[in-house]
Amino acid sequence: MKFLLFLTLIFTFSYAKITVAVSYPYIASLVDSIGGDNVDINTLAQGNWDPHFVSPKPSLIVKLRNADALIINGGDLEIGWLPPLLEKASNSRLNQSANVLDLSRKVALIDVPKSMGRENGDVHADGNPHFHLDPHNIPLLAEAVSVFLSQKDPLNASQYRKNLTVFKQQWTIHLKHWDSQMAPLRGKNIVQYHPVFNYFIRAYGMKSIGTIEPLAGIPPSSSHTMQLIALMNEKKPFCIMHDVYHPTKTGEFISDKTGIKLAILPHDVGATSSATELYTLFASIIQALR
Ligand SMILES: [Zn+2]
Repeated sequence: MKFLLFLTLIFTFSYAKITVAVSYPYIASLVDSIGGDNVDINTLAQGNWDPHFVSPKPSLIVKLRNADALIINGGDLEIGWLPPLLEKASNSRLNQSANVLDLSRKVALIDVPKSMGRENGDVHADGNPHFHLDPHNIPLLAEAVSVFLSQKDPLNASQYRKNLTVFKQQWTIHLKHWDSQMAPLRGKNIVQYHPVFNYFIRAYGMKSIGTIEPLAGIPPSSSHTMQLIALMNEKKPFCIMHDVYHPTKTGEFISDKTGIKLAILPHDVGATSSATELYTLFASIIQALR
C-alpha cells in the first residue's frame, strides 16, 4: 500500500510539468494560452523564417530530444525539414502517434490540388497548409490543443478546459471586432507573393487574383511579372500582401509600376515586431491592410 502511494507521488511529481515541442511560434502561443505554467514549450522555427524551409540547427535536435510530446502544423508544411531532425533526436516518445498532434487534421483545408504534377509548382498534396491565418480556425486549434494536453497531462485537464473556455470567449470578441473592421474590404482584389494568406483572404471575402511567384515555390520570372502588372492594371487590386521571408525586390518593382501598395505582413507570431502573440498577429495584418 505504501509502495503504491509512493508510486502515485512519483507519478504526480514527474507529470507536474510536461515539455511540448512545437514546430512554429503560433502553435507556441496556442499552447501557452491553454497550457499556462503547466507546460514547457520548445519552439523549433522562428516566426520570421520561411516555414517551408527551416534550417536544421543542432539546437533544434536538443529541443526535440527532451520533449514529451510534439505539436505540428501538418499538411506537409514541415515535410522538408522536420523528419531528419526527428530522426537525429531519436526520441522514442515522439515516435508514438499518441504523443504527436497534427493540427491540419482539425480544420478543413482549401486549395487541394486536382493533380500533383510539376506543372502546378511546389504544391502541397493535402491542400494549402497555412490554415492558421484564418482567425476563425484558431478556436478549433485551441480546442485540439486543450484535448491533447488533457490526454498527456490528465491531472491538469480541468485547468486546460478552463483556459480553453476563457480563450474562446476572448477570441469571439476579437473575431467580431475584426469582422467589422474588415467588412469594407469584402469583394476587393489582392495580389500575394506566395499563397500564404489564402485562408485570411477567403475569411474576409477578398479575392487573390495572382501571385508574384509564377507557381508555388518557383521564384519570380520577368515574363510572369510583366503579365502580373498588366493584370493588376486591369483588375486594380487594392494591395500586394507580401510575407517577410521572401525578397521584396520584385514586389517593390511591381508596386512602383502599378502604384499599388506593398504591405509586408507577418504570417506567424514573431515575423514582425508587432506580431508578439496570436491576437497581435491578426491585429497587425488587419491594421496594415486598412
Ligand atoms: Zn506554402
